[in-house]
Amino acid sequence: MEKVAPVVPDEFKDLYVRDARHPIYKIPDPVLRKAAAPVPKVSKKTGLLADDLIRIMREANGVGLAAPQIGVLQRVIVISPDRKPTVLINPVVISATGSCVMQEGCLSLPGLYGDVERPETVEVEALDRRGRAFIYEMEGMAARVVQHEIDHLDGILFIDKAAPATLHWESPETNPDQNE
Ligand SMILES: [Zn+2]
Repeated sequence: MEKVAPVVPDEFKDLYVRDARHPIYKIPDPVLRKAAAPVPKVSKKTGLLADDLIRIMREANGVGLAAPQIGVLQRVIVISPDRKPTVLINPVVISATGSCVMQEGCLSLPGLYGDVERPETVEVEALDRRGRAFIYEMEGMAARVVQHEIDHLDGILFIDKAAPATLHWESPETNPDQNE
């Protein structure tokens, strides 16, 4: 069942403008609900897309960004839980263990936060920007961010998984590690 997009309070509406200086797509843009296609072959173009994602994520003070959030329906994400960006192409979660609840926010729903339960550790298989296959073992913030970004590749937003009673609005500046 399709979830209803949350109503943006007046004081947050400025954050939902998309223009040349703020290129991230926000709800309710339909691109955020579409599944992205695998990258058939990692090329120079893929590297340029990765560069765009890193730059735009940094400009938005985010800890992660997925290509659909800039309107590109390809399976490319960047995560930067420690402010050192890692590019993952065609990422797939191949194993997951444990469970933990953490507050999340999203650069496509700026100002909205809520608690999401996810596996605590994950193994993710992906290609790097040179097309080499890697398996990344992640825990803590990295595991959290990578799962949030992979969800974007399938048109899934954190509000679909958040405990409804925990959803609330606050300034993105108060949660610098949760904007992804
Ligand atoms: Zn997000």
